[in-house]
Amino acid sequence: MLLATAPVLSLTKPLGLYIHIPFCLKKCNYCDFYSVSANEEIKRDYVKALIKEIKQWGDKLSRPIDTVYFGGGTPSLLAEFLPDIMTGVKASFTICENAEITMEMNPADNCEEILNFALKSGVNRLSIGAQSGRDTELKALGRRHTAKQTVETVKLARELGFENISLDIMLALPNSNEKTLEKSLEFITNLNPEHISAYILKVEANTPFHKTYDTLNLPDEDGAADQYLQMCEYLKNAGYGHYEISNFAKCGKESRHNLKYWKLEDYLGIGPSAHSFLEGKRFYYNRNLNEFTKGTPPLPDGEGGSEEERVMLALRLAEGLKIDLNPNLVKKCDLLSKCGLLNVKDGFISLTDKGMLLSNSIITEILECIK
Ligand code: SF4
Repeated sequence: MLLATAPVLSLTKPLGLYIHIPFCLKKCNYCDFYSVSANEEIKRDYVKALIKEIKQWGDKLSRPIDTVYFGGGTPSLLAEFLPDIMTGVKASFTICENAEITMEMNPADNCEEILNFALKSGVNRLSIGAQSGRDTELKALGRRHTAKQTVETVKLARELGFENISLDIMLALPNSNEKTLEKSLEFITNLNPEHISAYILKVEANTPFHKTYDTLNLPDEDGAADQYLQMCEYLKNAGYGHYEISNFAKCGKESRHNLKYWKLEDYLGIGPSAHSFLEGKRFYYNRNLNEFTKGTPPLPDGEGGSEEERVMLALRLAEGLKIDLNPNLVKKCDLLSKCGLLNVKDGFISLTDKGMLLSNSIITEILECIK
């Protein structure tokens, strides 16, 4: 065994809890997350099913929770029910005192009311889908909000006392280039969020963008890579640490919930399409609202924590992978670091910004050396 030994699982070690809110008012042109439109009755039925499912898990597990993440979909569409859902969570689990409680939100919605419900529910971190600082791009993406609404949402959230805000930004958008990206980066950093998640647009099957792909005028692979490196440099200069392939944070503001995914720590995901990794097992709920509301249990998704998975996940992180170097691996790492793709330091290997762009092929090469 070449990898560092995994920590012994403690059954009192806190869990992360992910709650999926599968509703959106309108589908964005690029999105393949599971979400549907819903009326009040459907929402109420969903909340009831969710609270029931949370209780069933609470009866089975006696582990405290130190992160809660409301993702979607658009959790802010269900804000009026958040206090009830959190009451359900607290009745079923012990929530650690300093728990990180995140809610994703769309800046298009009625922010004051939503933010007040979030505060009342104990939400202390917001993840706001800003995506771009340019209205032409937001329109092309099919987003419901404008850049002005993002500014107003952040301002209001600060006034109400939120001290931990993450903004999403998307790269390699239709008709984008170095200048347009610079404008969005300036827009995002001027809002001074504690955390930034950045994603290169990927056109997925079964999305409107897939159908109009040829007309989108997207940057090619090199153009997208250049935008990624431009963003890494810009955010570094603006004081954000690049702690994971797609995530940047001010010191100490890394997402504690998302770190659990990459560090192979336990998390429980509840709601249609939500995935879990719990006590060595992976499982997930089908992408089907009706099934979930009827109480259909999650499906097994195999064992988790293989050597391959550990390497893949650890190399997503700036801290990298603790590894014993065998002669083959030494040669490979030497070559990769000469090409500016890998750092080797104090028994750890980690990808450079350039290496992160080629993470899949580098991980495959490293895995071949340690087999
Ligand atoms: S708001 Fe988010 S989840 Fe909903 S369609 Fe747009 S990208 Fe997808």
